[in-house]
Amino acid sequence: MGAGSARVVVAWVAVVALAGLGGSLGAQPGAEAAPPTAARALALRGVRWIRRTTPSAELYVQGGSPAAALLATLPADVEAAVAADRAWLGLGPPSGPRLRLFFVGGREAMRPLVGWTPGGYAAVDDGTAFFVATPETRPALRHEVMHLLSWRAWGRPGGVWLSEGVATLAAGGCGGYAVDDVAAVLLRERALPALDTLRRAFDVRGRTGATQYLASASLVAYVDRTYGRPALRRLWTAGLAGVRGALGVDAAEVERGWHAALARHPAPRVTWAGLWTAIAARGCE
Ligand SMILES: [Zn+2]
Repeated sequence: MGAGSARVVVAWVAVVALAGLGGSLGAQPGAEAAPPTAARALALRGVRWIRRTTPSAELYVQGGSPAAALLATLPADVEAAVAADRAWLGLGPPSGPRLRLFFVGGREAMRPLVGWTPGGYAAVDDGTAFFVATPETRPALRHEVMHLLSWRAWGRPGGVWLSEGVATLAAGGCGGYAVDDVAAVLLRERALPALDTLRRAFDVRGRTGATQYLASASLVAYVDRTYGRPALRRLWTAGLAGVRGALGVDAAEVERGWHAALARHPAPRVTWAGLWTAIAARGCE
């Protein structure tokens, strides 16, 4: 679920440039016009990509992998995710380069593409995202597509938690629960990450990461409905360092109001431990 870091993207640019000098970059159709991360994926030896074109995106599905079982439904699912994310962002008709979306059949297949084994990854500067997609593990389409569209439309965010919060909120919840359901359970169990932790030490992995993704989404939703979408967008740009200019209040007041709203929210009769078991097994979307 992590957005691409500048360091990784820069490293890939170098690799692709070297491949281009060797004459191998144009080996597959579409490679020359693709942004660096997509070009590197298309140039990978031993991977056969099945290509599909939709109005918003170029899709590349790893042939002979479990992802290929989703070929019939992925184009419509991608368009639905793009439409939902665009509507949330208030965007007009599609413009700009099409998204490049890659689908592989397991986490290990992510390693040569993005350097580690997440379930989804967005190279935001390239408009390119990578997904694990199997009939059992549906790709987190709305989450990663939201990374691509939100960075393109709103610019670089003033904090990882803002980017992940908007993307996780776009996915609409987790394990059948709304993000506020999960955040209310976390608050009840005194396991809700502090705002300062989200700001300073956002963690993308494992159980701690899951609490931070979902808490960020709940916090983004709170800011959105309390202060409005234009204020949320100002906060996206300014980050918490500029919270007073963006929202007219300080971070402590935002956090108090968020907790008070969650305390009023009817928390479902589940434990975080039980929720985490389901999330770890099936993911969030
Ligand atoms: Zn993410």
